[in-house]
Amino acid sequence: MKSHVKAVVIGGGVVGCSVLYHLARAGWTDVMLIERSELTSGSSWHAAGGFHTLNGDPNVAKLQAYTVQLYKELEEISGQSCGLHLTGGAMVADSPERMDFLRLAHAKGRYLGMDTELITPSEVKAMFPLMDEKNFVGAMWDPVEGHLDPSGTTHAYAKAAQKLGAEIVLRNPVTELTQDADGTWNVVTVNGTVRCEHVVNCGGLWAREVGRMVGVELPLLAMEHMYLLTEDIPEVMEFNKSTGREMIGVMDFKGEIYTRQERNGVLLGTYEKACKPWSPVNTPWDFGHELLQPDIDRIAPSLEVGFRHFPGIEKAGIKQIINGPFTFAPDGNPLVGPVQGLTNFWCACAVMAGFSQGGGVGLALSNWMVNGDPGFDVWGMDVARFGEWATLRYTNAKVRENYSRRFSIRFPNEELPAARPAQTTPLYDTMVSQNAVMGDSWGLETPLWFAPEGTEPKDDVSYRRSNDFVHVGNEVRATRERVGVTEIANFAKYEVSGSGARAFLDRLMTNRMPKPGRIVLTPMLNEFGKLIGDFTIANMGTKSGSERFMIWGSAAAQKYHMRWFEARLPKDGSVSIHRFDQTLVGLAIAGPNSQALLAKLTDVDVSSSAFRFMDFREMAVGGAPCMVNRISYTGDLGYEIWMQPAYERLVYAAIKQAGEEFGIVDFGMRALLSTRLEKNFPTWYRELRPIYGPFEGGMDRFIKLEKNDFIGREAAAKEFADGPKLRRVSMIVDAVDADVMGDEPIWAKIGDTDYGTVDKPHGYGAPRFDSTGAAIQATVKSPSPETDGDASAVLGLRDGDWRVVGWVTSGGYAHYVEKSLAQGYVPAALADDESEGLFEVEILGKRCKARINVEPLFDPTGEKMRG
Ligand SMILES: Cc1cc2nc3c(=O)[nH]c(=O)nc-3n(C[C@H](O)[C@H](O)[C@H](O)COP(=O)(O)OP(=O)(O)OC[C@H]3O[C@@H](n4cnc5c(N)ncnc54)[C@H](O)[C@@H]3O)c2cc1C
Repeated sequence: MKSHVKAVVIGGGVVGCSVLYHLARAGWTDVMLIERSELTSGSSWHAAGGFHTLNGDPNVAKLQAYTVQLYKELEEISGQSCGLHLTGGAMVADSPERMDFLRLAHAKGRYLGMDTELITPSEVKAMFPLMDEKNFVGAMWDPVEGHLDPSGTTHAYAKAAQKLGAEIVLRNPVTELTQDADGTWNVVTVNGTVRCEHVVNCGGLWAREVGRMVGVELPLLAMEHMYLLTEDIPEVMEFNKSTGREMIGVMDFKGEIYTRQERNGVLLGTYEKACKPWSPVNTPWDFGHELLQPDIDRIAPSLEVGFRHFPGIEKAGIKQIINGPFTFAPDGNPLVGPVQGLTNFWCACAVMAGFSQGGGVGLALSNWMVNGDPGFDVWGMDVARFGEWATLRYTNAKVRENYSRRFSIRFPNEELPAARPAQTTPLYDTMVSQNAVMGDSWGLETPLWFAPEGTEPKDDVSYRRSNDFVHVGNEVRATRERVGVTEIANFAKYEVSGSGARAFLDRLMTNRMPKPGRIVLTPMLNEFGKLIGDFTIANMGTKSGSERFMIWGSAAAQKYHMRWFEARLPKDGSVSIHRFDQTLVGLAIAGPNSQALLAKLTDVDVSSSAFRFMDFREMAVGGAPCMVNRISYTGDLGYEIWMQPAYERLVYAAIKQAGEEFGIVDFGMRALLSTRLEKNFPTWYRELRPIYGPFEGGMDRFIKLEKNDFIGREAAAKEFADGPKLRRVSMIVDAVDADVMGDEPIWAKIGDTDYGTVDKPHGYGAPRFDSTGAAIQATVKSPSPETDGDASAVLGLRDGDWRVVGWVTSGGYAHYVEKSLAQGYVPAALADDESEGLFEVEILGKRCKARINVEPLFDPTGEKMRG
């Protein structure tokens, strides 16, 4: 065993081996994997080995597509078979709602380049004869699905890595991790210590324990998971003989089960409601190649539905039931990336679908370690997406919820109840007593909308406009016409101070920093000139000789941004950064009467000449010391008022009382988001993400290329000079009863005109076939991960003169202007074309006419906003 290497990967499951291979492939050959026992000594060895591309997050789906495509390469390099069966698979829907879900997934697939198809239950039965098609209303076919040999695949990664020079050390538990002052890690093992620059936690079932070695409690939990293997089924053998094909994989939402052929029988796995965590606090170190006791009673309800849906399986005898543990994060996606607060400590854990995701996780993490950037939009699996609230018990409740709903639909307006409320503000009880429907915003209870007296404060979950529609509309209209108040405690807030504060922010941000008492809006870019943040920054003036800046940003990106800030702080201590989290809370007032309202609450002159648009002032509001920003995300005349939580009730009560004469209303987050749509304002994470450049995102006026050198400036200058390939647009959609939710394809009638849309190359996938085994699709296209990371690589899917040219990022109903609006990305050359009949947006399988609106529909000149 070497005593010093560049990086040590802890854990020889499929994920650790993939990370090792990808690091070596990226040129870091001086790397070592240390495994406690033998390779696959955690969850990897007893996996069912299924793989698929589909994921709720399209960016994670791209990495899954990459994983599946990698196996061929891996087999060639390693000489080790992965035991690949590329059968294709179908998701079957038993109800119209589930069919809507499939329509959505299929539509997303259109811009991801996936070759999914909506098919009938009989068409599924032709490929999986054990099912009773009467139970289903439809299905979606995905050619890039199948199963493999988990152990062979793990060894293939390991062998390929070794061929490139990586070292693998077996039977050697890592017992301790320490870091020297110069950042060198000491990886203490039972056979000695290895010194290295980087440590990667791929501890799988023990990832929590490895995290604890460095004082980090990672939000992950292992769950028991069962699948059964049947005896040989004559019908299966007959099918194989008559068609010359293997049966496909089937995922059944209603039964929460998956099933596929295994030898001459089937494998059937369940995600049962009565799920069970395994080793909820500590994972025993002596657990290895063993299985857990099966508990057939626990999965009986799922089996009952399964057998009804697939009577051909019920008749078969059960040969074996496998019960094994594997880990999940609270939302079911992996935890990948550098851990905030530590240097060069990386995670690739909670990978619940190692054989769909392991390759993509390895690629993204190795890019990140070697190049400083994952090379993909990995927000959906970034370890920084969870805050401090994701404690052991929170994780336990959320993982159980997630597991038991694995195949359930999550509607766009559905708030999941487990582990809530976690954080609340002092106004929580007041909001609930006022019939607020609360939502979870990065662990904080936040009012979404208010039900009038006599109406139940509850969402009817749906893909279509729902029971909140009329009430949100009323909140919007009252705010636009009179004045409204809403809680905005969920924004991220930071203070940056010190003698180097201005220079630090100048280097990080694209806009000029404000003068004292003023506010700017500014994006933040990474070295590649892509958007990684969007902030409001106020200059609070100078105190004790140092300038102080308040920063507001996206709640969900707090750890992500802190990690970025901390890694770039000057070493001389000239800059300090403080994240307030819920030690600073906020209320926003907006609408034409908001200025008169504020004037009643403070003794300061807040007229438009004394307190201008984009001014910042510390002042007493309702008797409490506050900071006030003269801005509003509603895009109207409005103010954001920030205070310590101890004052929030006082300020709120004062606002409500003083607001009575103006007919003040409470409005929630949904009304706020509706108002921002009619102003064409983007949101972080939907419109603004690390796959877009600032000019693509329409942030032009906040990018000051001529100011000092800032991170990403060179790339941004190039984007500006070359012209962006895409542009963010706002569209008016002729929607009827359902508005866009995000990720819908945008079609344009462009014929053969080349607007930079590229047809993705043909990859591989399984052909769909009929009951005789004859292929229905001779060749299939598949996702093309090599072009991903470049958001302009959209699929040129065709339908006559119509082509998919872009995708929706978010949208909804803009109640004040009474229009359904969508924001999204299209090729730049089309972005200013407001012609009728040029675009269509596909909502729940129906293509709706859409038209670009370049100017915002509300207050296009900003007159009202400026006051
Ligand atoms: C019953 C079952 C069915 C499944 N079916 C599927 C499926 O169909 N498709 C799919 O994609 N996934 C499936 N999975 C999930 C899949 O097994 C996991 O996603 C995958 O195994 C995760 O791999 P890993 O490398 O992260 O973790 P693990 O496999 O747990 O590997 C972690 C490794 O780290 C080592 N280690 C930990 N701590 C230390 C230390 N301190 N020092 C040295 N070594 C250490 C362990 O010994 C272990 O070998 C299934 C899992 C189960 C249990």
